[in-house]
Amino acid sequence: MTIFQKIIDRQIPADIVYEDDLCLAFRDVHPQAPTHVLIIPRKPLPSLAHANDEDQALLGHLLLVARTLAVQLGLADGYRTVMNCGRDGGQSVDHLHIHLLGGRALGWPPG
Ligand code: AMP
Repeated sequence: MTIFQKIIDRQIPADIVYEDDLCLAFRDVHPQAPTHVLIIPRKPLPSLAHANDEDQALLGHLLLVARTLAVQLGLADGYRTVMNCGRDGGQSVDHLHIHLLGGRALGWPPG
């Protein structure tokens, strides 16, 4: 079981900023920006590579939640959404998640 599944199951604590029947969002424990939130589906998809056509609406929902949270968290000057996938993508937790980062000017390209 991944650490994110344990957060979903309330087995370990997290600073949850949003949840609905499809997903939840909580603050990253090692923030890379003043605001760093992770948005995860309740469905245990290991990564984007494991998503199917049936997940289209779910993936769209996660992005729209990111948009709404960006407003609620005051990221009026902009923000970045990131989805790391697999080893070369830098994914460290095998439960699909969108990083929502903001509160400072972010560099480009990423490392
Ligand atoms: P990734 O490297 O894209 O898989 O991102 C995983 C993220 O999960 C990292 O930014 C970690 O800091 C974060 N993380 C790991 N464990 C926890 C936790 N218990 N609560 C909140 N964030 C976590």
